[in-house]
Amino acid sequence: MIGIIGAMIEETEPILAKLEKVNTTRIGGNYYHEGIYASKKVTLAYSRIGKVNAAVTAAILIERFKAERILFSGVAGAINANLKIGDLIYATRLVQHDVDITAFGHPLGFIPETGDFFQTDPRLNEIAEIVAKERGVKLGKGVIATGDQFIADQAKKEWIAKNYNADAVEMEGAAVACVCASFGAPFFVLRSISDAADMDAGFNFDEFLKSSAKISADLALDMVAKL
Ligand code: SAH
Repeated sequence: MIGIIGAMIEETEPILAKLEKVNTTRIGGNYYHEGIYASKKVTLAYSRIGKVNAAVTAAILIERFKAERILFSGVAGAINANLKIGDLIYATRLVQHDVDITAFGHPLGFIPETGDFFQTDPRLNEIAEIVAKERGVKLGKGVIATGDQFIADQAKKEWIAKNYNADAVEMEGAAVACVCASFGAPFFVLRSISDAADMDAGFNFDEFLKSSAKISADLALDMVAKL
C-alpha cells in the first residue's frame, strides 16, 4: 500500500477526486481515505498543518494502514531564487529548521539519536524524475527545510538559506521524513511553489495555493501509477 499525505484540503482534494472505491476513516482528528488509483492500493491522508499533525499521520499510515512507502504532496515557499510560483521541487534531504539545542554544542537542526538531515528514497526520487521527463514537466530537487512557522519575512528566509542551504520551506516534510526514517519506510516529498517566503508570501499563498497544490498532486498521482 502506498501512503500519500497532504496537509490542507486543497492538497488532498485533487488526489481524492481521482481515487476509486474510497473508504474513509477518521483517526485522531485526521482523515484517511483508502482507495485505488491505477490499480494500486493507496491511502490518502489529510494531516492538517504542521509538524505534529504530519508526524502523527505518517505514524498511523505506517502502523495502522501498513503503508510501505509514503509520498507527501503539497505547496511550499521558495528560498532558492530560481524557484518560481508553480515550479515543482522534490526533497533530496529535509531538515527541521526550528530545532535548536545548540546550547549543548549540537549543530542547528540536530536531535541526538535522530540526526538533522533526512535523506529521501533514491528509488522514489528516480521515479519522480522519470515521470516528470515523460510529461515534459520541469522538476527541481534540493533541500527542504521544515518548521512550525509560515515564513513571510526576508531576514528569516535568509537565515534559513544560510544555516541549512535550503531551497524551499514548508511545515510538514521533515516531520514525515523523521517518522519514516524511524520506522524504516521509504519516503518522498514533493512541493509546488506557492510563494517566495517573503513579505508578499501570505498574499501569494492565498492566490496560488489551489493551482500549485494541483500541480503537485498531478505529478504525485503519475508517480503512483509507475510504482
Ligand atoms: N492559510 C492557511 C495556513 C497555511 S500555512 C490557513 O489559514 O489555515 C502554510 C502551509 O503551506 C503549510 O502547510 C506549509 O507546509 C506550506 N507553506 C507554503 N508556503 C510556506 C511558507 N512560506 N512558509 C512555511 N510553510 C509554507
